[in-house]
Amino acid sequence: MIRGQILLIAVLMSGAFCKSKVEPGQALLPWDETRVRSALEFLAAEPHPLGSARQGQLADWLQKESEAIGLTVTVDTFTASVPDPAYLGSSGGSVMQKLTLDLTARNVYAQLKVPNADCVVLLGSHYDSKRLETGPGFGANDSGSSSAALLEIMRQMKEQSDLKCSIMAVWFDGEEAYLPEWRDGEERHPARQQDNLYGSRHLAGQLQSCASAQCLPTHLGGEKVKALVLLDMIGMPNVKLTLDSLSDSQLMNMAVALDREMFQGELYGRSYSKSAVDDHVPFMEKGVPAIDLIDFDNLQTWHQPSDRLETLDYKSIEKVSQLAMAMLLKLAQP
Ligand SMILES: [Zn+2]
Repeated sequence: MIRGQILLIAVLMSGAFCKSKVEPGQALLPWDETRVRSALEFLAAEPHPLGSARQGQLADWLQKESEAIGLTVTVDTFTASVPDPAYLGSSGGSVMQKLTLDLTARNVYAQLKVPNADCVVLLGSHYDSKRLETGPGFGANDSGSSSAALLEIMRQMKEQSDLKCSIMAVWFDGEEAYLPEWRDGEERHPARQQDNLYGSRHLAGQLQSCASAQCLPTHLGGEKVKALVLLDMIGMPNVKLTLDSLSDSQLMNMAVALDREMFQGELYGRSYSKSAVDDHVPFMEKGVPAIDLIDFDNLQTWHQPSDRLETLDYKSIEKVSQLAMAMLLKLAQP
């Protein structure tokens, strides 16, 4: 954000710099595109769907990178029972036939703990790539773009001294359907089960009711979850964010207002809305306000082997990340 950076330099030079006067969207560090690029090169080097060996390596790598920033990391390993593709379109055979495969899934949680805070804001992205039938799926935009952004955003948030709530980055595993289409599990598979959002449903299912809110499970700190800011598919050129009707309306109003303030309304410059079913939905269903910052219109490479690094625009990633940081700064207040 050029305007913010100039302002920051001016304030620093005046000698009147005070961390408590940081404006929304004004980071204390310059946005480090080189870090984002090198993270993306690792994340999108190979296909890495849920349950793959490569996905396990990415979980380890996200842990290591987050710890290097100074975050407290928990890798939550759980079993995702996915519809077995062998039975897609069949009636399922005998009654006793097992129709699902048990895969190892891993959510990665990286916490920026504010001492004595009783609230937490979640910052999310899925980090699995889609299994494709048309070729290898590298998932550079969907969703290497937001997975890499989370690391850099957390590095920036670490420098904020006036947070009143903790912030927890969440890399969700298994957002993508294991079967070819999003609703195949419910509609074309004899298991008749939801086949997507495995990681987000897992964490949302662990939240605990606490004083008319939802709190993290005790082993993650037990703080009240104020909101989830989810990022997905933010790396295409000339990024435009979708007015998502499944997101919390107050958070959407906040995002649109910040976009006007920071980018003259370029990100939400469209007049219609869509429903983007994504990792924010299980949290909305639990009563946690959540928003999906997603470009669900720029779909030339979506779920294609062409979703590779060379189609990305790193300025798009930066812009949406600046918006997300401005939201985090607003939300991480009492
Ligand atoms: Zn996808």
